[in-house]
Amino acid sequence: MDIPRIFTITESAHRIHNPFTPEKLATLGAALRLKTGTRLLDLGSGSGEMLCTWARDYGVIGTGIDMSQLFTEQAKLRAEKLGVADRVKFIHGDAAGFVSDEKAGVAACLGATWIGGGVVGTIELLAQSLRPGGIILIGEPYWRLLPPTEDVARGCLAGSISDFLLLPELLASFGRLGYDVVEMVLADQDGWDRYEAAKWLTMRRWLEANPDDEFAKDVRAQLTAEPERYAAYTREYLGWGVFALMMRR
Ligand code: SAH
Repeated sequence: MDIPRIFTITESAHRIHNPFTPEKLATLGAALRLKTGTRLLDLGSGSGEMLCTWARDYGVIGTGIDMSQLFTEQAKLRAEKLGVADRVKFIHGDAAGFVSDEKAGVAACLGATWIGGGVVGTIELLAQSLRPGGIILIGEPYWRLLPPTEDVARGCLAGSISDFLLLPELLASFGRLGYDVVEMVLADQDGWDRYEAAKWLTMRRWLEANPDDEFAKDVRAQLTAEPERYAAYTREYLGWGVFALMMRR
């Protein structure tokens, strides 16, 4: 079981697989006023940067589940490196339908809401692992500017304009599901650059190390096309943020 190989190639050097910088991730952790010992569940935990740094900085404990073998290995190494391996656990597996027995104070899914079939399904899934009064974290794109055409949406690698909402609409949609939005931290274009542009050097180095790989043609095509595509579309039109939700009573 694993994710498509292209991600493992392009994001092998990423610690954070989303447009957040380390500073934004720390800002989010501080904004949540986490108490030592808070249990965090992270579906699609990637290379584990949120769990590991929040365990180090805020004393959280918890579990991450991710379908990428490579990213899960990197997460375990990161936990060792930061000295928090006794507080965080990383499981390689499919997080779809995952409900934890030990209820979490914070249940998160950042940049992987397809795990629950979209934002609505992912909130429902996370809610099943949450203790009463807990916080759900959803990391999700929104339109910074509404694409004028479907072609522009596809340029952002969205299926269509309707895949994402404008920020006020996204916030309102959480309310309609019965949740208060109690915090949010938004990525900016510099953060998008760290996420997207970091892939280019990784791809270039991979191509030099793997010229005869069956994937080399695909990676070469991506490296050639990505900077312009990214600058014209994703960087202009797509926002990304993490939204903290608490169920209304
Ligand atoms: N939350 C992490 C990773 C986001 S990238 C971060 O923000 O850094 C999306 C992640 O979802 C990848 O690590 C990918 O391996 C993982 N993933 C994709 N499908 C999954 C599934 N069905 N179950 C668990 N993880 C999945």
